[in-house]
Formats: sequence, C-alpha cells, structure tokens
Amino acid sequence: VTAAEETLDPESWEELRALGHRMVDDMFSYYETLRDRPVWQPMPPAVRERFTSPLPVQGQGAPEVYQDFLDTVLPYVTGNTHPRFWGWVCGNGSGMAMLAELLAGAINSSVDGFDDAGSHVEAQVIDWCKAMLGWRPEASGLLVSGCSMANFVGLAVARNTAAGYPVKTEGLLAGPQLTVYGSSETHSSVRKAVQLLGLGGQALRTVAVGTDYRVEVEAMRASIEADRAAGLTPLCIIGNAGTVNTGAIDDLDALADLAAEQGLWYHVDGAFGACAALSDALRPKLAGFERADSIAFDLHKWMYFPYEAGCVLVRSDAEHRAAFRYDAHYMTPSTRGLSAATSQQFTEYGPQLSRGFRALKVWMGIKEQGIDKFRRLIEQNVEQAAYLAELVEAAPELELLADVPLNIVCFRYRGEQNSTIGAVDDARLNALNEELLNLLQESGTAVPSHTVLDGRYAIRVAITNHRSRRADFDTLVAEVLARGRILAKAAAQ
Ligand SMILES: *Cc1c(COP(=O)(O)O)cnc(C)c1O
Repeated sequence: VTAAEETLDPESWEELRALGHRMVDDMFSYYETLRDRPVWQPMPPAVRERFTSPLPVQGQGAPEVYQDFLDTVLPYVTGNTHPRFWGWVCGNGSGMAMLAELLAGAINSSVDGFDDAGSHVEAQVIDWCKAMLGWRPEASGLLVSGCSMANFVGLAVARNTAAGYPVKTEGLLAGPQLTVYGSSETHSSVRKAVQLLGLGGQALRTVAVGTDYRVEVEAMRASIEADRAAGLTPLCIIGNAGTVNTGAIDDLDALADLAAEQGLWYHVDGAFGACAALSDALRPKLAGFERADSIAFDLHKWMYFPYEAGCVLVRSDAEHRAAFRYDAHYMTPSTRGLSAATSQQFTEYGPQLSRGFRALKVWMGIKEQGIDKFRRLIEQNVEQAAYLAELVEAAPELELLADVPLNIVCFRYRGEQNSTIGAVDDARLNALNEELLNLLQESGTAVPSHTVLDGRYAIRVAITNHRSRRADFDTLVAEVLARGRILAKAAAQ
C-alpha cells in the first residue's frame, strides 16, 4: 500500500451528521428564544483574548470547534436577528434562508452563467427583482455582495457608456474630467465608487438639500451648468430612494427630467427604499425611479435575506456587458456541454469571476413566503416607524429631529421644557444623547444607532426588521425616557 491519501471528509459521516443535526437544532432554539437575550453584549476581555491564539497547526476536531463557536462567537454577535435591533440598516435573516445558505454551501457552486442550475436560479431571481420593482423586463441585472457593489457596477456602466470616448481601453487620462451629482445625503458608498472608478472623490458634487433632506433640484442644475461652463464633462446624476440618515426620497421624477435635459446617466441608489415599490401605497413616493438608467438596491436590508445579497439593474444588456466583458479562451461559452451559455455570462456583468450562490436563499425565500408577505412586512415596518414618531411627538421630553417618510425615525431626549439643559444647549444635549445611546446598547435592551442632523446628535431607529412588534417601540420610548431623566438630573447637578 502507498501512504494513505488524505481528504477533508471525515472517516465516518456519522459523527459529523450528528453534530450537524445539533447545530441546526441549536440555531432554531436560538431563533425561538431571541427575545430572552440581550440584543447585544460586549465581549469580555478574557474572551477577546482567545482571538489572539496562533494559527492552529493540528486540528482540534469538529465538536471542539463548534464549542468554541458557542462560547466565543454566538453570544457576542451584532444582534441584528433580534426584534429590537434597529441600528444602521440591517436585515434579520430567517430560518428558511439560513437553511438555503447551508444548501448553497453544500453544493458549493460558482455561479458563472453556464448551463447549470445555479445560473438558472440567479437569472430567475434577477427577473423577479425586475418584477418586484416594476422595472423594464428587457433590463439586465446582476446579484452582487450588496448595494456598495451595486452602486459601483451602476457607475462603472455609466462611465463606460456616457464618458464620450473609449474610457475602458484608453483610461481617464485620455479624456476630460468627469463629474457626478448627488445630494449631500448621498451614501458614502457612492463616493467610494467614484474614487475607485478613478474620477477622484471631488468629482462627486454634493448638492444642498432642503429641510426635508431631499435634494434641491435647481441647485443641482446650477452645479451641472457651472461645471460644464468650466470645461468639465458632467457624467451622471445620483437619485436617492431612501437616504441612510432619514429615509428621504429625492424627487426622482424631477431628477429624471434633469438627467434627460442635460443628457446625463441617471443612477438611483435605492439600497432599502427601492423595496417600498412592492407596496401600492408606498410606490408613489418613488415615482420616477423607473426612469433611471441603473438602480442599486439590497436584498439583505429590507428584504431581510442573510448577508450578502444586493442587486443592480441596468437599462440595457449591451451597455451593462460592454463595461465588463473581456476575451479569454478559457471562458468562451461553447454551444453544448456545461459551458454552453444559457443565460448571461455573469462574469461579464461585474468585477467577479468566481461567484457565490447567493441567489439560492433569495429564490427559496421568495418561493417559501410569496412576495405579498414581503410587501406586508415592509408596510408593517413603515407603520411601526409612524407609530414610534407618534410616541416621540406625544412625549414632551422627546424631540423628533426629521420627517419620517419611510422607516427611519431620528429623535433625541431634550428634557423637560425649562429644564437647565433646555433645547438651546445643543452641545450638552448631544453629549447626553450620545451617553444615552451607549447605555441603551450596553444594557442590551435595544440597538438604535446614531447620526448627526444639522449639528444635533440623533438617536436613529431604522426599521428593517420583520420581528419587531409595536410593544418593542413602547419599550424603547420608556427606556429612553427613564435613562434620559437620570442623565438630565445628573447633568443639572
Ligand atoms: C446600506 C446602504 C448602501 C450600501 O449598501 P451595502 O449593502 O451596505 O453595501 C448604499 N446606500 C444606502 C442608502 C444604504 O443605506
């Protein structure tokens, strides 16, 4: 006999099978008991210390590794599966989607657009995304890691299509300075994309917003015309369908008109807001977004799917592909066999070659629940935001800091009228609210995050959570009032 050849497979599947069953059972119990646990808790130094252990040379075995997960990972995660997690913009995931991730891991496909089931699934999910948004059926699309990458892909197509010369081969030095226009509320991922595309961060012109945090369309026109007069080449307008700070939705119709009038590409960042299109009641708020040349949105935010899953849609398949296609013999589709192209070759529509099977969880999750369920959950979150805003407005010690057009509520504790930390003193209120938010998170009761609006520190509640109930917002308000009063009293002494 030759030396034993090795594999990562176990000698017997029985033990691993039993461990796998235990993991699945544990995770369902975890979901069942979410409410009994803190939303988040900080990792104690002794546990943190364990993450400095050296690279393992010998394996410790599967059961021990799972025990490490239970001891050092599970208790200290972000907590966005919890009903009272409302920080940043995070989805929850679901039991079925978790199982789909397990299946995707098991078959371990790289989804390239071959004649394989994974590619057929992704192509169908992209079709469903178009249908969900009421987007043109001839548009092209791609699943990507998230909206940052979706914005990047949309802007890469914009650059390739609208720069006015073959920028892909000749590079930016061969052409004029290109400029991009978005409101001051535009997400940082758009600036990152502009930087990565070589335009330079300053090519993103940030245009003023009104008190409703929607872009001033006339100011954008003026900025475009001034740049053009100065010899620059305006390339693209960004429309925001739900800003990260307050959920503000730009006048997307007016921006479509402006883009048409100026001959510019029109890209909409609809990270979470685009999903409001599922609801007939909410859809009018997005009017005009269907006129965009490209749109970016997330499936891991307001569609609640596990990370990572975002989507970009582009008006024309030819333009989308032209920005990323390349020639390589090893990737040329054949007419038969596995590499026969039956749908789009996904690698020619974005930066990735090897691509995970993120489509499976979306495909199984939408089939499991039906799209109408997602519509109802999105409407439920918008109603919960309105409810929270009512609670805030009904409490004289609280102050709403921005309109609530969708699912984001920004507010602060301002104390009793005439108290020593009256609303005149923003600096003291900012410090108080920052401390209040930290205490709230550290107590594990609820996790909102923060933002600063017009110099005022805001407790920011973004509701993309299918597990939240109205009573959770009662709890939040009661906690904020109780902690705010203690802090205000201490500050007054
Ligand atoms: C979250 C977000 C992004 C970035 O999306 P990721 O999925 O985190 O990459 C872009 N724009 C807006 C408005 C967002 O809320």
